[in-house]
Amino acid sequence: MRLLNNCPICDSEKLKRLKQYIFREQNIINYLSTLSLQSMSNESLMIKNEFKFYINHCQRCGFIFLNPRFSEEDYKIIFKTEVINKKIDVEQYFVRAIRGYKLISKYFRHKLPYKPKILDYGGASGYLLYPFLKKYDCYLMDYKKYALPKGTRYLGRNTDDLNGKLKFNVIFSIRVLEHVNDPKKVIKDLILNLYENGIIYVQVPLGCLNEWKSLDTPFRHINFFSEESIYNLFKVSGLNIIYLKTAFQISKNAPGWKLDIIGIKTPKNKEKKKIKYISTNQQRKRVFYYIPLIFRKKTLNPQNIKKKFKNILKKLKILN
Ligand SMILES: [Zn+2]
Repeated sequence: MRLLNNCPICDSEKLKRLKQYIFREQNIINYLSTLSLQSMSNESLMIKNEFKFYINHCQRCGFIFLNPRFSEEDYKIIFKTEVINKKIDVEQYFVRAIRGYKLISKYFRHKLPYKPKILDYGGASGYLLYPFLKKYDCYLMDYKKYALPKGTRYLGRNTDDLNGKLKFNVIFSIRVLEHVNDPKKVIKDLILNLYENGIIYVQVPLGCLNEWKSLDTPFRHINFFSEESIYNLFKVSGLNIIYLKTAFQISKNAPGWKLDIIGIKTPKNKEKKKIKYISTNQQRKRVFYYIPLIFRKKTLNPQNIKKKFKNILKKLKILN
């Protein structure tokens, strides 16, 4: 665990503190390497069982992130002890998988019988690869090894297990970068394993809105992206951005605002048309984004209101 003085995306020192957290979880001690525990107490981020964390906002690139950051050594412990539900309900992720397939097919076109190589980075059981199985050679990386769809090859835990020998035409990473310690390293490493004119598609939550305001653990999401910061992440890593959008996604397990971005690996002088982005500060203040979130709250959920109304009528003996 290390307290950063510079932004992990653009390296700027201009970091504004938006919030301070004190976490008391015993878990934290169990999860940290001895080296991390030592450095935390040196930086007075740890007093007894209490751990101090900050939410930083980089004034240059707009990135909002949790600080200090877990080290790779910590992650080895964290992910070893984490229990992963092995039974995956494919139907539950069907809409998400089709959505990803449509978007990738629009921005990466190929002719049969040529079979491009596609990598799902952080893909768990590979449910997002189902629509690609026929037309693509499918590969997957994740910290845990699941039983994968037939024909999908498992390549290891993270980018350290890739050596640049195997190259891909398409790499996608859905809801992964909000968890990782060094998102710039991940994107740069993935680019090394991408063919010229290959694309990288990433989806993350719009974390800059309000997610960082109410964390109950430092283990879940540590990066809170906006259009501005995800754009800058792709840009500083060396990708040309060809698609960027904020959209509300309805899904059973995690509805909410998501950012979708696609970058292409092309020589720098071959830059395509410039994609516009909304700044972190603008996105944070858009009242409009909060409207669908109201309905996620249990009390204001239409079904719950209906139930409550029925109960009132019952009590009033209008309804039996
Ligand atoms: Zn920055």
